[in-house]
Amino acid sequence: MAGTTVFRNGRIFSAEDALATTADFLECLVVKDDKIAYVGSENDEKVKSAEASGAEVIDLSGQVVVPAFIDSHMHLLQFGLGLAKLNLSECKSFEDIKAAVSNYAKAHPEMSRILCRQWHQSATNGKALASMLDDIDPRPIYIEARDCHSTWCNSAALEELRERLEATADLYGEDIHRDDAGRPSGLVAEGAHLGMVWPFLTGACSMSERLTALNNAIDVYIESGYAGIVEMAMENNAWDALQLLRSQQDIPIHIAAHWAVPYSKDEQQIEEHLNEAIAKHREFHPSKSPELCIIGIKLFNDGAIGGCTAALSHPYMGYTNLVDPIWPADVLKRTVKKAVDAGLQVAIHAIGDVAISQTIDAIAAANHPQGRQRVEHLQLASAEDVKRVGQLGITASIQGVHMDPVVSTAYSRIVKPHLWEQAFAFRDFLDHGACVALGSDTPTARHLPLPNLYNVTTRRSAVRPELPDVVHEHYALTLSQAIAAQTSQAAYSRFAESWTGSLTAGKLANFLVMDMVWSAEKLLEAKVSQTWIKGQKRFQNTT
Ligand SMILES: [Zn+2]
Repeated sequence: MAGTTVFRNGRIFSAEDALATTADFLECLVVKDDKIAYVGSENDEKVKSAEASGAEVIDLSGQVVVPAFIDSHMHLLQFGLGLAKLNLSECKSFEDIKAAVSNYAKAHPEMSRILCRQWHQSATNGKALASMLDDIDPRPIYIEARDCHSTWCNSAALEELRERLEATADLYGEDIHRDDAGRPSGLVAEGAHLGMVWPFLTGACSMSERLTALNNAIDVYIESGYAGIVEMAMENNAWDALQLLRSQQDIPIHIAAHWAVPYSKDEQQIEEHLNEAIAKHREFHPSKSPELCIIGIKLFNDGAIGGCTAALSHPYMGYTNLVDPIWPADVLKRTVKKAVDAGLQVAIHAIGDVAISQTIDAIAAANHPQGRQRVEHLQLASAEDVKRVGQLGITASIQGVHMDPVVSTAYSRIVKPHLWEQAFAFRDFLDHGACVALGSDTPTARHLPLPNLYNVTTRRSAVRPELPDVVHEHYALTLSQAIAAQTSQAAYSRFAESWTGSLTAGKLANFLVMDMVWSAEKLLEAKVSQTWIKGQKRFQNTT
């Protein structure tokens, strides 16, 4: 938008300080072209002179304005592709699933595969055999679990994966479920799901399907109040599609991507992935194109608590074996050091206390405290490691949605009490000086920012708010801290704080007009009325 707009009579959230427990509001915002020209009192000379020179004036009628949100951890192409899959979240039994998949298959004779998502594994009591699906449709059927950590395949799907399943049998071991005869039986989980099924299905999409998926994902993100994302497992299929999209049209949101470097027993392969990431970082460096850049690498160092694959210091309840981190400590150290020395940020998935300690050790050994390295999830960190995150300048990349009691209360029964007491210690990270950046981890979890903010501020369920459960209330962020984690802190985590993430003069005019009461308890009723990106209104809620 060329020209100047004065937004009067608002409650403009202007705090940049993540530790501020209460909010500061100013009443007036002036936008000139794509940037914020002024924030403050309506009676300032700048406001008067803007109005005198013919600026458009918008009366906000007391509405709250916050910086547009940044999702600090998400998977853009997978989210977009997921939007096109059959959603099975309402299915409560195998009969429900069968009927839904069958109807969908009949309605879509043009599809070469039947792709589904949001299967509650409990709906089939965890059973996931190819044979259960084989009489529904002859085409390959892929049913992704709700937590996005596994896929249930029919025999046609296993057949088209056969060469890959054979080639990776050693690498993925028990992640590929097998029958008594040793043949894959239907469920492909964890590493095999992320490292084989996802890339296969993404690669099997045509470029036009990928472009459509990206456009859909970006539209949904803007409607939800985001102006930026940190993409947490970039690879060539998604990156090539993004580059093509950018050559064809404007991409309204800013994207900083971490290139996925999977673990391999063959260190040569790790080296090749890392070299590819370093080359991409040089080509798409944040200093050249901050709004679409490769900023770092992403490593997975363990699994998830729900699947009993996060690396803990004790066996899960009912088990006797310990789960180790995915990366041996020395290989992790070498990989992190090389990436950090090449100027990349490292982002490492670590959920269990052992994986977290080992991850922080590797970051400490790389010794680059200004590099804003990140640890993703940090769900069961020891008290000592919470302190180290702050001391070492590491970003605590957290997701409120993962601690929703609907999911997390089951964890209290499978991990020991001393660890559970420390779970999701968001406030503790902040109080010990860490940058706390909030993300959704979509599509493994809901992308919506407001329920996520509700989770981190109330520590209660956003899915079933009537539940009495509160997960360690003393680790709650205040509302202004949570908004900072989703805006200014998220911007800091990806070196963008000089141009976005807060409402101060000179930064991009990326902001939301909210229909909300400023109270954590009321967040589930809050709505994004308008999303403004670079001074342009990109979304207007009409409901
Ligand atoms: Zn993720």
